[in-house]
Amino acid sequence: MPILITDLLPGQTALGDLAHMWLRELRPTLERYVIFTFAVWLGLWIVLRPFLRARKIRQATPPSRQLVTELMYSLRSMVIFATAGVLMALMYRAGLYPLQALADTWGPVYFGVSIVSGIVGLDAWFYWTHRLMHDPRLFRRFHRRHHRSHNPSPFTAYSFDVPEAVLLVGYVVVFPLVFPMASGAMAWVMLYQIVTNTLLHSGYELMPARRDGRPMLDLIVTTTHHDLHHAQAGWNYAGWFTWWDRWMGTEHPEYLERYAAKAWRPFGGRPEPQPVPAE
Ligand SMILES: [Zn+2]
Ligand SMILES: [Zn+2]
Repeated sequence: MPILITDLLPGQTALGDLAHMWLRELRPTLERYVIFTFAVWLGLWIVLRPFLRARKIRQATPPSRQLVTELMYSLRSMVIFATAGVLMALMYRAGLYPLQALADTWGPVYFGVSIVSGIVGLDAWFYWTHRLMHDPRLFRRFHRRHHRSHNPSPFTAYSFDVPEAVLLVGYVVVFPLVFPMASGAMAWVMLYQIVTNTLLHSGYELMPARRDGRPMLDLIVTTTHHDLHHAQAGWNYAGWFTWWDRWMGTEHPEYLERYAAKAWRPFGGRPEPQPVPAE
């Protein structure tokens, strides 16, 4: 895709422009990942650890070397995300996102509609690409790195093989081609994505339960839900909403029982579960 010469500042080369664009794309992705992974790690694993023993899903805690490895692979994924961001900027300059200009004329309410639609679309994209990556013919190349984190940590969020990182960011490139997304809305979708993604791998169940023991927001994927996927791949492919797993019959049969064993019950119900003993 050629860079339009008229887009360059005086004295700027096409290569310099590309490098500048790449850094501009890398920065917000990197910032979001670093802020939220470290915040969740520091908050849940260090500061609140003594108070959250009953919420800890597994007794074991991953070793530090696993966290460092995940951080390294996540950095590689973010290099891929930034490169895709440059590709998008070039596609935008070439006029390949006409729906975005249209969406920008629909006002602030539509900005909110864009964010919600983007999250629902991401969930569907993730569910189906995730199921595809679990096909034995693809798993080793596409998804094994993520499952090397058998017991995940907040840093597992972007610990991907290269094809998996490409598939995930493929959504950001493709969705605005087919759906009118207002300018800037996808950044909010990605913010939601990294915050929840980090929490899903945090190892602590924070979703409060109703009196009957089901999650307060039963349509939302809880940490227990995704943790079960890491423990027993073959179930729970969803990333954000539980509906695809329920419609397709892929929700783990013991999910609700395991969730209820760890969840906080602010409104009473079954007696509080016993805290996991200190390790
Ligand atoms: Zn998986
Ligand atoms: Zn995961």
